Amino acid sequence: MAEKTCSSAASCDKSSCEGCPSAQAAQPESMLEALNCYSEIKHVIGVVSGKGGVGKSMVTASLANMLAAKGYRVGVMDADITGPSIPRMYGLTGLAEADDEGIYPRLTDNDIKVISINLLLPDPESPVIWRGPILAGLVKQFWHDVIWGELDYLLVDMPPGTGDVPLTVFQSLPVDGIFVVTSPQDLVKMIVKKAYNMASTMNIPVLGLVENYSYLVCPDCGKKIPVFGESKIQEVAEEMGILVAGKMPIDPKLTELSDAGEFAKAENPYLDAAYAALQILGIKDSSEK
Ligand code: ADP
Repeated sequence: MAEKTCSSAASCDKSSCEGCPSAQAAQPESMLEALNCYSEIKHVIGVVSGKGGVGKSMVTASLANMLAAKGYRVGVMDADITGPSIPRMYGLTGLAEADDEGIYPRLTDNDIKVISINLLLPDPESPVIWRGPILAGLVKQFWHDVIWGELDYLLVDMPPGTGDVPLTVFQSLPVDGIFVVTSPQDLVKMIVKKAYNMASTMNIPVLGLVENYSYLVCPDCGKKIPVFGESKIQEVAEEMGILVAGKMPIDPKLTELSDAGEFAKAENPYLDAAYAALQILGIKDSSEK
């Protein structure tokens, strides 16, 4: 069972987080959910996309690996409840433990804490056929019922689109910023604008755009082949004043590790700009101290 890390566990009456200095209490005017008193999370980062299959979970897990490799304490909330893939990528099977205090995330081989619907339901292959409000409620539970402990970064793998769950995450969690993942064949500008508009309505910054499946490197001649068409990400990013946080090629090594449940071993060298954007948040922390 995970060790409890509540910095003020002695003063916690366990039935309420009131008065606990480590609880990030809801502000009266906002819709932010309170964290439980065993959790302290410095930064919450969302990873969003316009549609499924563009590599949102791949980006989320790659960023988590990069942060964990540098010694940051990292968690991943798999909020893609109807299409969860994070546990499978890390070979996490079986159920997360829970007791009266809350739910304990599972730990990957590289020490990333993970929570996902697939770690809570006995049969990970049974489809989740709940309606939007139930899904949204579950995401809130992932925030306040999960004993995350102390985290530098919590990465939230969002479901695609702009439905109930992304809206709930944006309203209920103190999201510092989001990355938008697209593919070259997407109607990039429209999808990016939608995500951008949703986030900016809620005062959440877009930290960067990641283009996935940008090209394939020919294993024989090394030439880059733009399988899904020429990239438009640079011009869209410039027009909207957003950082290009990465251009990922189709890399069979990444799929292999993901399919084998060994993503803890994966190194993704294509997301350095995204990683730098995350580190800037951390640097801001220390300058504010
Ligand atoms: P999403 O979360 O957007 O639905 P995933 O991250 O699950 O998409 O990716 C869909 C599939 O494509 C997965 O099997 C994943 O391993 C694979 N994949 C994603 N990005 C890449 C990439 N750059 N190279 C190779 N395979 C990839």
